[in-house]
Amino acid sequence: MPELPEVEVVRAGLETHVSGRTITEVEVLHARAIRRHELGAEDFTGRLSGTKITAARRRGKYLWLELSDGQAMLAHLGMSGQMLVQPQDAPDEKHLRVRFRFADDGPELRFVDQRTFGGLALAELTEVDGTALPSTIAHIARDPMDPRFDLDQAVRALRSRRTEIKRALLDQTLVSGIGNIYADEALWRSKLHWARPTDRLTAAQGRAVLTAASEVMAAALVAGGTSFDALYVNINGQSGYFDRSLDAYGQEGLPCGRCGTAIRRDPFMNRSSFSCPRCQPRPRVR
Ligand SMILES: [Zn+2]
Repeated sequence: MPELPEVEVVRAGLETHVSGRTITEVEVLHARAIRRHELGAEDFTGRLSGTKITAARRRGKYLWLELSDGQAMLAHLGMSGQMLVQPQDAPDEKHLRVRFRFADDGPELRFVDQRTFGGLALAELTEVDGTALPSTIAHIARDPMDPRFDLDQAVRALRSRRTEIKRALLDQTLVSGIGNIYADEALWRSKLHWARPTDRLTAAQGRAVLTAASEVMAAALVAGGTSFDALYVNINGQSGYFDRSLDAYGQEGLPCGRCGTAIRRDPFMNRSSFSCPRCQPRPRVR
C-alpha cells in the first residue's frame, strides 16, 4: 500500500496538472473501478461532466479532487492504482479503468489499476473542524504533516487509549497517514517497543514518537520530490519510488544503526514489526 509520502507526490502532481481544468467527458472502462460509487457509472460520469477540478487534496493516505459543485472525487489507490496524465494520442494502458477528458483539449487524466483493489467514488464535501472533507472520510484524523495538526491533542488521544502503541499509530481515526513502514521507523527513532501500552506512555514519549513519524515522512518526501515534475504523474504501490533509507523496517538481522544489535522481526497483525532488541526493549507484562 502506498504510504503518505507517495500519496503526497501524486497529490502534488494532480494539483499541477489537472487543478483548474473543467471535465467534459468521463469514460468508465471497468465497472469495478467505481464500485464504491453506489449510484453507478451513469451517475458517476453524469455528475462529473461539466464540473471543474478546483484542487487536489490529501489527508493521511486519502487523496481527492475537490470539484466546483461542492463534491469531491476520492481516489483509492489500493495496491496498484495509478493516476496518469497522458497525451490524448498515447495508447491506452492495458489496465486503464477510467478516462477523463477536459475542455481545454489538453492531456487526459487516466486511472490505471492492475489489481483493481483501488477505485474512484464521489462524495459530498462536509466541514469538519474548519476543513472541507469528503463525507466518507470525515472520521479520519489530521496527519502529522498537516499544518493544523495539534500535537498535544494527538498525544492526549494516544495516551487515553488502552492498546499497544503501534496499533494506536496505525489507527487512522487517532492520527492519520502512518502505515506499517513509518510506524516501525518512528518507534525505532523514539526507542519504543511496538507493544508498549499507550496508557503507560509519558507525554514526552508520545510527543517523541509522533514527531519522529512526521520527520521520517518528511525525509521520504524530500527524497521523492525530484521525480514528479514531469508530465507523468505516477504511483507504484508495490515498490514505491522513494529511495527509502530505513533504520528498522525490513532490516531483520542487520545491525541497528545506533547500537549494532541485530534488528529483530516479530509477527504483527498478519504483517511484521521490526525493532532493535536493545534500543527498544519489550515492555514488562503488567
Ligand atoms: Zn539498537
